[in-house]
Amino acid sequence: MEWLESMPKVELHAHLNGSIRNSTLLELARNLGDEGDIEFSEVEHVILKDDRSLVEVFKLFDLIHVVTTDHEAITRITKEVIEDFASENVVYIELRTTPKRNDKIGMSKRSYMEAVMQGVKAVTTVDVCFSPQTEQLTSSCHSRPIHEPCNDDLRKKIYVRFLLSIDRRESAASAMETVDLALGMREMGVVGIDLSGNPTKGEWVTFIPALEYARKQGLKISLHCGEVPNRTEINGMLDFHPDRVGHACCLNDAEFECLKTLKIPVEICLTSNIRTGTISSIDIHHFADLHRDKHPMVLCTDDAGVFSTSLSGEYKIAASTFGIKREEVYRLASDAVHFIFADDGVKTELRNTFMAFIKQNL
Ligand code: 5GP
Repeated sequence: MEWLESMPKVELHAHLNGSIRNSTLLELARNLGDEGDIEFSEVEHVILKDDRSLVEVFKLFDLIHVVTTDHEAITRITKEVIEDFASENVVYIELRTTPKRNDKIGMSKRSYMEAVMQGVKAVTTVDVCFSPQTEQLTSSCHSRPIHEPCNDDLRKKIYVRFLLSIDRRESAASAMETVDLALGMREMGVVGIDLSGNPTKGEWVTFIPALEYARKQGLKISLHCGEVPNRTEINGMLDFHPDRVGHACCLNDAEFECLKTLKIPVEICLTSNIRTGTISSIDIHHFADLHRDKHPMVLCTDDAGVFSTSLSGEYKIAASTFGIKREEVYRLASDAVHFIFADDGVKTELRNTFMAFIKQNL
């Protein structure tokens, strides 16, 4: 399905450290092993294992963070992740990451994010538009179309925006620190806040003050919702009316009705849900129901590295499993533009990009 590769795509649910290349993760782990910080032979099989339960995935993230919580590593991962998404014609991405402290190496949440921004600037294979302010000034951003599949000589271009993630294990004060950091980085392309992390840990009510503050200040909110059947939490999150939710797997009928009535866009991560066992089988995935009802949603990768997937791959799974025709896939992909957190100028340009592509390819 080459046409899925060449189709422009919008990625709205990708965790930075979950999108790390396997080869980079192994290399960084081997280096730490050589320095005596970890026992490489003990972690190699954990990295290479293919199917993991939700619990095992979060164990892997703890290992990934040991390996990647270092300024240089974060810069490298950011650069590679953006280049990888751009290479499969992702034209707009909202990358999310949890700003981390590591006192041993003098890392603060702010310096972590500065290392991320260094990674954005280090991208070489594609033009990157990441800052709403400099986009107005940089000719490479607004002056030419994003995507011309018939012109291989033209450099690709990708819009990058960020959501700062709050990990459910954090305290209310630490979450507030992340929101303050996000507010100070709006000029660098930070557009919102995400609540993620192990859904069996912590309580979402801890983070309501920080999330309400973020919203009041104009940041958008996306919540991981319904990865486990926690009724109180799912209902509380729906009442909060976030701008988008991730997953929405374990909602009961009444909760699904509520989601639909409120028209909250859902970030759907098919491979992730199957790999972690959040959904037992692809043919009963709620994608089908939401698609039939024309509910706002967008296909996403979640953790392209950890789950060995790509955004083209996610569209391929949706098309083949649910029998979606090419024209309908194009509509699904272009509808994602409605749900992005960037400003109207970017939305207009993306819409034009999709219209030009569809006109050329139908
Ligand atoms: P990072 O924020 O370190 O760049 O990306 C990895 C982190 O994203 C994980 O430690 C976890 O907090 C969050 N994450 C990644 N995938 C998932 C997922 O499927 N569900 C939830 N709830 N959190 C996730």
